[in-house]
Amino acid sequence: KVRVRFAPSPTGPLHIGGVRTALFNYLFAKKHGGDFILRIEDTDQNRYVEGAEDYITEALNWCGIAYDEGPNKNEKFGPYRQSERKHIYKQYADQLIANGKAYYAFDTAEQLDAERKGHEAEGKTFIYNWHNREKGRLVNSLVLTEEETKAKIEAGEDYVVRFKSPQDETLHLTDIIRGNITIDTNILDDKVLFKSDGMPTYHLANIVDDHLMEITHVIRGEEWLPSLALHKLLYDAFGWEAPEFAHLPLILKPTGKGKLSKRDGDKLGFPVFPLEYTAPDGTVSKGYREDGYFPEAVVNFLAFLGWNPGTEQELFSLDELVKDFDLARVNKAGARFDPDKTKWFNHHYMQEQLDLDLAEQFKALRPELTDIDVNFVALVVGLVKERATFIHDFWDLSHFFFTSPSEYDEKAFKKAVKEETQDLLQEVINLVTLTKEFTVQNLQAKIKGWITDNEIGFGKVMMPLRLALVGALQGPDVFDIMFMIGKAETVKRIEHLLE
Ligand code: GLU
Repeated sequence: KVRVRFAPSPTGPLHIGGVRTALFNYLFAKKHGGDFILRIEDTDQNRYVEGAEDYITEALNWCGIAYDEGPNKNEKFGPYRQSERKHIYKQYADQLIANGKAYYAFDTAEQLDAERKGHEAEGKTFIYNWHNREKGRLVNSLVLTEEETKAKIEAGEDYVVRFKSPQDETLHLTDIIRGNITIDTNILDDKVLFKSDGMPTYHLANIVDDHLMEITHVIRGEEWLPSLALHKLLYDAFGWEAPEFAHLPLILKPTGKGKLSKRDGDKLGFPVFPLEYTAPDGTVSKGYREDGYFPEAVVNFLAFLGWNPGTEQELFSLDELVKDFDLARVNKAGARFDPDKTKWFNHHYMQEQLDLDLAEQFKALRPELTDIDVNFVALVVGLVKERATFIHDFWDLSHFFFTSPSEYDEKAFKKAVKEETQDLLQEVINLVTLTKEFTVQNLQAKIKGWITDNEIGFGKVMMPLRLALVGALQGPDVFDIMFMIGKAETVKRIEHLLE
């Protein structure tokens, strides 16, 4: 059975790229009738950020990306927070030492720094692997005797456990998206797996947990591709079958040059986070949710960051994505982030929503609407939503349905109000007053009929009329507006313009 996991580290807000990783894992799992697991990788206590885990679960919930197992949910392989699995990892580090795949190292930060500088001075790069590990000033269990090693550990000296990467081997790795990859092990350094404070590093915890949690496919961001060789070697060292790997393409800046960053969001005035985020220093980053995006739009947009269905279809619900998603159709080339495309999706998903639902949300946003019947608001929404991208666009597009214009756009006034306007609009008032059954059809027939019969010219009447009703020269159909605000208010607004 397919089992995949999303394994974020709670070191800050989840970037939109992280949500994309979660989404692709979810889609792959559901497509294959498998399970999607959330695992919190919080072994690095120095980088832990309070509230980050809640942020992650809230963001996934908002997007509708439901996990089958995770912290406090169906914990059959639990716990799902690595900090709560601390007791598990040491035995695996010990196992690797016992079978010669790993070793203790006691080098201090200063010693390592000196090594690095020494190498640089000779124009070489320092790699902690077979090139150096058994010579020079490095202090590890490969150069110490067993007794010396034991004595150091018993004396409470700080140590790390390093993986003993092989010399002169060529690794043949496979990635579902990238195909075959060949790696020369001589470039690998002996990564730290475990530290004397009892904490594993990402690499050890990640492999042990993926194994214990029976993960079949690892789908993650391209930034983890350089770790693939080590991870494969670790699986081999334990004698475990490795899962399959798929590394998702980078998400690029809108210019297509370089990786999308938090700063790009600030610069473009565009969110790169699912939810608004307040950093410990008080700075606030925009979120899709708070900016008025619908989760359906965000999910649809994220799906296309690296994947495409191979057809012209652009609009996909989550269920449709599950049906059509295929890792074979994920590109390895970076995916360009296009902020305007999200708006396009949002506009679309807005049209799909019920006017009544939109009206509720609109009411919640504007205190002016508190006392107005939601059904009336829904009718207004129906008239303007086609020109809106967000619910917060509604007010600008529709305030005149709720309040009389308090001022007129100056340019519009000059353009619309001429000498003859007074007489013409006076006649409109008469016609409006005489309209017994105040319907859009009747109003239209009366006013348009009068204009045509007298060969007046539509602009001469309609422009000042619109100005009177709206305060500007744009807006929905004039007859719709008159009908919605009613006879008395219509007359009042025209009279006000003529004052
Ligand atoms: N904890 C890693 C991260 O923050 C997980 C990487 C992986 O999926 O292996 O992205």
